[in-house]
Amino acid sequence: YETGQEEKLFGRINAGGKVPLGLKRKSLRILVTGGAGFVGSHLVDRLMERGDNVIVVDNFFTGRKDNLMHHFGNHRFELIRHDVVEPILLEVDQIYHLACPASPVHYKFNPVKTIISFPHLHYFLSPMRGYFEVLNCDLAWRLHKTNVVGTLNMLGLAKRVGARFLLTSTSEVYGDPLQHPQAESYWGNVNPIGVRSCYDEGKRTAETLTMDYHRGLGIEVRIARIFNTYGPRMCIDDGRVVSNFVAQALRKEPLTVYGDGKQTRSFQYVSDLVEGLIRLMEGESVGPFNLGNPGEFTMLELAQVVQEVIDPNAKIEFRPNTEDDPHKRKPDITKAKRLLGWEPTVSLRKGLPHMVSDFRQRIFGNQKEGGA
Ligand code: NAD
Ligand code: UDP
Ligand code: UDP
Repeated sequence: YETGQEEKLFGRINAGGKVPLGLKRKSLRILVTGGAGFVGSHLVDRLMERGDNVIVVDNFFTGRKDNLMHHFGNHRFELIRHDVVEPILLEVDQIYHLACPASPVHYKFNPVKTIISFPHLHYFLSPMRGYFEVLNCDLAWRLHKTNVVGTLNMLGLAKRVGARFLLTSTSEVYGDPLQHPQAESYWGNVNPIGVRSCYDEGKRTAETLTMDYHRGLGIEVRIARIFNTYGPRMCIDDGRVVSNFVAQALRKEPLTVYGDGKQTRSFQYVSDLVEGLIRLMEGESVGPFNLGNPGEFTMLELAQVVQEVIDPNAKIEFRPNTEDDPHKRKPDITKAKRLLGWEPTVSLRKGLPHMVSDFRQRIFGNQKEGGA
């Protein structure tokens, strides 16, 4: 081959996961947007372990440098502070596009919080923690912009360098689903103007853009629809149910169950998700693929598991639910099993203790428990 062509050929072969017999797998250059976040940092760990060169692009909106510090100084690792809403030029073989604040506090207004409007800021009084959380009132459209403009930019980058692009979409594209469990063929039941629509409609647009670039421009793409995921490094006060319950039980505060607690979710441990994302990227199918754990729990059942694992005396307190809260959600993972040979292996009772140790360390550090 001419200079450069060989690299291209090997790049493509590797991007497709096929390594010619007798040849050592060449390291790939992989971009992980949102790599300083919860899922992204676990993905980066796996890619680094595998020997690849990883570039993380993150604006640290919800992510933390701490999640990646163990890779600092490794010549195969690079961290760039950058907002994906702005264009960026990089040379890579694969793009895992995760950048998007995934936690509900950042996009939906919780009615249990008192909202006082100021010209540029909303101040939320958090009765749970007893302190003022300050959130920028432009978060919803910024989140939408990240999903739309950020995804467009990363697709533009994929097009320019011929990289394979993987979008982390969400089970939220199914909205408050009328089909149960949800298969990928279900089109969803989404309120386009609701409080969470910046997230679910944003991701739906991101999926559309991804398919448009694939069909119209021949970009190699993959789409994952991720269901609720938990594990170490989750943001502690992000308002998601598992992080809320675990932090509350550790702090000896009541577990806040919204509504009657009969709504259901399925909880996937982060290592299962990372395995699914890598199989999807390396596989032959575009998707979308549901990646989630089909084990279904009501929020009351989840509270009971948290009590079992952390504190059997933890109290439960009922709070009004948020608008447009999906009543049930459970993935049908038949397609991922068949085409990716993937299914989750970590049950909630097995995975939760790992997250609890991480939260315990981050909440109390070396302090005595309960003294935070
Ligand atoms: P996270 O908030 O921990 O991570 C998101 C990362 O993206 C953070 O590091 C944040 O700083 C970064 N980011 C946000 N906006 C950015 C921007 N404009 N430019 C650059 N970086 C930006 O969330 P997570 O749980 O790790 O989620 C990762 C991805 O998986 C998201 O796309 C999310 O929508 C998707 N997802 C997650 C779940 C889940 O349960 N964790 C469920 C469904 C989908
Ligand atoms: N883009 C980027 N990095 C690249 C190539 C493109 O950030 O390496 C951005 C580019 O600025 C544009 C978007 O991706 O806003 C879509 O690019 P594309 O080339 O598909 O569209 P065009 O620029 O022709 O509108
Ligand atoms: N929830 C709850 N208590 C909390 C936080 C959330 O009962 O402290 C409920 C919430 O109303 C929803 C479910 O838990 O029905 C999952 O919420 P989360 O925000 O974690 O994820 P999503 O709604 O995006 O699936």
